[in-house]
Amino acid sequence: MLLRNAFLLMLAALGFCAGFARAGLSPEETAIAEAVDRRVPAATALFERAVNIQSPTENVAGVRAVGELFVAEFRRLGMDARWIDMPAAMKRAGHVVASTPGGKGKRVLMLGHMDTVLSGEPFRREGSIAHGTGTDDMKGGNIVMLLALQALADAGVLKDARVTVMLTGDEEDVGVPLEQSRGPMLELARNSDVLLGFEAAYEGTATIGRRGAGSWTLETTGETGHSSQIFSPVMGNGAIFEAARILDAFQSELAGERYLTINPSVIVGGTTAQMNDIAGSAAGKTNVIAPAAIVRGDIRFISIEQERSTRERMQAIVARHAPRTGATLVFHESYPAMTPTPGNEALLADLDAASRDLGLGGVAALDAAKRGAGDIGFVSHLAPGLDGLGSGGGKNAHAPGEYTEISSLAPMAKRAAVLIHRLGR
Ligand SMILES: [Zn+2]
Repeated sequence: MLLRNAFLLMLAALGFCAGFARAGLSPEETAIAEAVDRRVPAATALFERAVNIQSPTENVAGVRAVGELFVAEFRRLGMDARWIDMPAAMKRAGHVVASTPGGKGKRVLMLGHMDTVLSGEPFRREGSIAHGTGTDDMKGGNIVMLLALQALADAGVLKDARVTVMLTGDEEDVGVPLEQSRGPMLELARNSDVLLGFEAAYEGTATIGRRGAGSWTLETTGETGHSSQIFSPVMGNGAIFEAARILDAFQSELAGERYLTINPSVIVGGTTAQMNDIAGSAAGKTNVIAPAAIVRGDIRFISIEQERSTRERMQAIVARHAPRTGATLVFHESYPAMTPTPGNEALLADLDAASRDLGLGGVAALDAAKRGAGDIGFVSHLAPGLDGLGSGGGKNAHAPGEYTEISSLAPMAKRAAVLIHRLGR
C-alpha cells in the first residue's frame, strides 16, 4: 500500500495523475469510474422517464411500467431479468429480479423499490436538482444502481460477478401476507453474502442500522355514570384517566432508551368512541364519566430484542389497571429493524476505502435514529449490509416538493460499483 501510494505520489508530481489514475484505484476501477461518467446523460434521461410514470404503490400498472424500464436495461447488460408476480388479491405489482450469470466472489444482493407514496409531481430539472414525486425515494437510487451495473458491464467485469438486483413494487405499503410479499426477498437474501440498499443517501454517510416500526391500539374501559362520583369505589377512574395513566407511564418509564420511540398519534374517548385506521370520533357530556377511550400509535426500535422487551413493558404498564377500569393493548404487524452489526461496520469500512480511493471523501455511519424503516430490515439478519447508497442531497420524501441532486448520481454509482467490484474479487 505504502509503495503504491509513493508511486502514485510520484505520478502526481509528474503531472500524470489527473484523468486516468486516481489514488488507490486499479486500472479496472478507473475504467469503472469513467464509464459511470459516460453513462450519466442517458441515465438522467431514463430517470426523467421513470419519474414521469406515476407509481404510488396502489397503482399496479404504473409500478409495472416503471419496472419494465429497468427490466429492459438489465437485459441490455446481459442480466437475466424477470418478474415475480403477486396474487391479484394482494393488489401489488410484484417485484423485478435480475441476476448476472457469473460465479466469482461474494454474492451481492442490491435492493431498490419502484413504488412511491404520493404521485402527481412530474420531473422538472432546475440546474443540478431533479424535482418530482419519487426523485429522492427512490427512483434516483434505482438509477444509481443501474449506473453502477452499467459501469461494471462497460469495464467488462459484470459478467463474472455474482450480483442480483431486486426492485420491490410495494416497499411503501407492503403487501400482506408478509410471507408472500417478502418471501422472495428472504429467499434471495439467504443466498447472498452482502446486502446493499439504495434508498436515499445522507451526505457522507451510509446506513448500517435503521429502526423498525410497528403500530399499536390501546383501548380502555371504565364505569359510566354521574361525573360527581369519579374516583369513588363504585365508579373508579373512568376510561380517559386510565388511558392517560397508561400513556404517562409509557413516557415516564420508556422514554429516553436509545433508539426507542413510542408515539401516540391519535386519541378518542367519551361516552362513545370509535376509531378506524387513522380517524375516529367521540362524544360525551361533561357531567358523565367516560366509559371508553381508544389510542393509536407506533413504536420504533433497533432490534427484535428491543421490540420484544418494549412490548412486554408496555403490556405490564397496561395491566396495572386503575380502580374499576380495564385496558387492552394490541400490537399490529411490524416492519423489522436493520440492527447495526460488526459485519455491517466492516462493509462500511470497505465502502469508505472505495470512496476515498475515488477521491470522494470518507463515508461514516448514519445515526440509526435518523431514518425510518425500510425493506432491508426484512433480510438484514441474514447477511452483512448497508443502506442509504442511493441518490443524495434530496429532501421531502413522502411529501410535496420532493427533489434530489442529479450531481450525486455519478459519485454514488462509482462508490457502489467499486465496492461491488472489490467484493467480487
Ligand atoms: Zn424508499
